[in-house]
Amino acid sequence: TQAFLARIQKYRDLNTFITVSPETALLQAKAADKALAAGVAGPLTGIPIAHKDIFCTQGIKTSCGSKMLDNFIAPYDATVVEKFNLAGTVTLGKLNMDEFAMGSSNETSFYGPVRNPWNENLVPGGSSGGSAAAVAAGLVPAATGTDTGGSIRQPAALCGITGLKPTYGRVSRYGMIAYASSLDQGGPMTRNAADAAALLQVMAGFDPKDSTSADTPVPDYSAGLQDSLQGLKIGLPAEFFSADLDPEIAALIQAAISEYEKLGAQIKEVSMPNLSHAIPAYYVIASAECSSNLSRFDGVRFGYRCQKPADLSDLYTRSRGEAFGAEVKRRILMGTYALSAGYYDAYYLKAQQVRRLISEDFKRALSEVDVLMGPVTPSVAFSLGEKTGDPIQMYLSDIYTIAINLAGLPAMSIPAGFIDTKPVGLHIIGNYFSEARLLNIAHQYQ
Ligand code: GLN
Repeated sequence: TQAFLARIQKYRDLNTFITVSPETALLQAKAADKALAAGVAGPLTGIPIAHKDIFCTQGIKTSCGSKMLDNFIAPYDATVVEKFNLAGTVTLGKLNMDEFAMGSSNETSFYGPVRNPWNENLVPGGSSGGSAAAVAAGLVPAATGTDTGGSIRQPAALCGITGLKPTYGRVSRYGMIAYASSLDQGGPMTRNAADAAALLQVMAGFDPKDSTSADTPVPDYSAGLQDSLQGLKIGLPAEFFSADLDPEIAALIQAAISEYEKLGAQIKEVSMPNLSHAIPAYYVIASAECSSNLSRFDGVRFGYRCQKPADLSDLYTRSRGEAFGAEVKRRILMGTYALSAGYYDAYYLKAQQVRRLISEDFKRALSEVDVLMGPVTPSVAFSLGEKTGDPIQMYLSDIYTIAINLAGLPAMSIPAGFIDTKPVGLHIIGNYFSEARLLNIAHQYQ
């Protein structure tokens, strides 16, 4: 624990942590030592981890990357945090992220951008950029992240680590600050698949406090890591290998797929005709849900409150106006518009219909093959500031990840190689609750 705390200090310039919590960490480490001495330690006892600053932690600030919650100390732990505490892990602190998880480069954080440890002039990806960069730089062995439209997989790809977005409902959302509730899902960000299996084992499971939590048994995620891939059917969606994809990334993905063929897999091309509508459908649905979820930040009950409000309306307007950043405001405006009378049918309802078509594309493809593979991102990590002036370009960073959230499926990003010193991720997408198989497939490659 002390070695990691020292390393976090040494690499402060990466800006991966919003809060470092040495007091909590050292207390938990001492408790872990006692558990080890008493012979009651579990597999993760004493393992240092850190949480994306979207998970509520009792007694440690939870900012969600926003000025709005810069003064917020949650009175309770998120279910995920509670489960890790019970498993004996040591919490080193809270990780930087895009404001309210809205972004693809970690540049919308109130606490400043995170830097990619492979090259400090590049973004780490987002919104779980602090988690990805901290794991990649060895500041923490493993971290939690959340993925609404790609925020675990995209930064994992750009930082060269392993990220797993579980099936929607597999991991409790209780105490995980809501962005778009029908899409948000927490998951592990680690150096390899075996570590991801160990973390998911703790995170997964039914939670009566989350009404969308799945009451489905949790398998042993490490048990099948060594299973053979003989006869595995891999589908390659033609739409994933279109002209938008950097040819050097395409070559690395093809090389990875050839490795799987050597391990006994069969390859089949599949088609998902509605995939091209995923980005517009997502930005309508996610913005609509965010405009509703973020209405709770009103300056009254908790979070930021403006100075000397003249009346209630002024209190609302100035508290929100002063504390939310530009991207969050853009989403609230888009979402409110899409939900308003007269536009609801044209935008929100239409987006929900597209969402159904996309889910059906996946259902059809996954009835023919076991998993789908492709790229995670259309390009490698880009320069800090390169896309901040162009929201559409930023939104396109998630072109390959977003559809998976609309369908609620599990998916992973695993390291597939480098272009110069810039990491590239391989995307593995499975059927509902097939996390154990995804981890097996990832582990066999690594
Ligand atoms: N980049 C996407 C967005 O800004 C996805 C974010 C996420 O998965 N949290 O909405």
